[in-house]
Amino acid sequence: MSQKIRVLVAKPGLDGHDRGALVVAQALRDEGMEVVYTGLRQTPAQIANAAIQEDVDCIGLSCLSGAHNELFPEVVRLLREQGADDILVIGGGVIPQEDIPYLKTQGIAEVFTPGTPTTVTAEYIRAHVKRKKTSFVQPPNKIAHIGIAVSSIDAALPFYTEQLGLTLLGRETVESEQVQIAFLAIGETRIELLEPLGPTSPIAKFMEKRGEGIHHIALDVDDIEERLVQLKANGVAVLNDTPKIGAHQAQIAFLHPKAAHGVLYELCQYPETKGENENE
Ligand code: ZN
Repeated sequence: MSQKIRVLVAKPGLDGHDRGALVVAQALRDEGMEVVYTGLRQTPAQIANAAIQEDVDCIGLSCLSGAHNELFPEVVRLLREQGADDILVIGGGVIPQEDIPYLKTQGIAEVFTPGTPTTVTAEYIRAHVKRKKTSFVQPPNKIAHIGIAVSSIDAALPFYTEQLGLTLLGRETVESEQVQIAFLAIGETRIELLEPLGPTSPIAKFMEKRGEGIHHIALDVDDIEERLVQLKANGVAVLNDTPKIGAHQAQIAFLHPKAAHGVLYELCQYPETKGENENE
């Protein structure tokens, strides 16, 4: 829920009074929403187009001229025509009670008559907007580490420390993964050597098939839970539905290699500050 709800406040038709619409627009801003106001005398087509262009979650239509029974349904129809029927459409203004059932059959989700507290309208919007699938993806901060499967850390370490001159930061056993890990600093990122603790370790299984070599790439992220929800919603196969605790108390989750053209990616969120500390 980090993104603000975006609302288009629009005045279809010919009436020339927008005080009410402006009050609602300001009230929704005060409620923490981003509000775009179209101005007076908009056609349904202009409103539908503006809503799509502005990528809003909700349209609030206000009409005082009495033409709401034509104008409101036309906006909904045009949204549907353009595949944007996930946008919540609500109405307000001078709308006789007897017209409200008809408007609802036409896809106007709710109608707020004069005197409705704007907090009620805001609450309704919050409860009923559909969250967008993925309009915006924050890239990972960096490569947290590259995981390399080895049969023996002791045998592999000299290459990294003596031939590449890298610094060994530490070693750690992660029982849940049946693996021992050695961390080497390389600039802002790390190389992790992974040695299986026993034949049931995922690293042992990997090496049975592929031998020693690059096992996975870990991406440093700040929003692992949200990201997993989003990836799953978008049909990306994951190996962990929810984060688990890995080395350094980081929250981690693996994506299925079939989702990433044969690469096993790990999402990695470190506790406390973003990015990982260099002084371990
Ligand atoms: Zn890893």
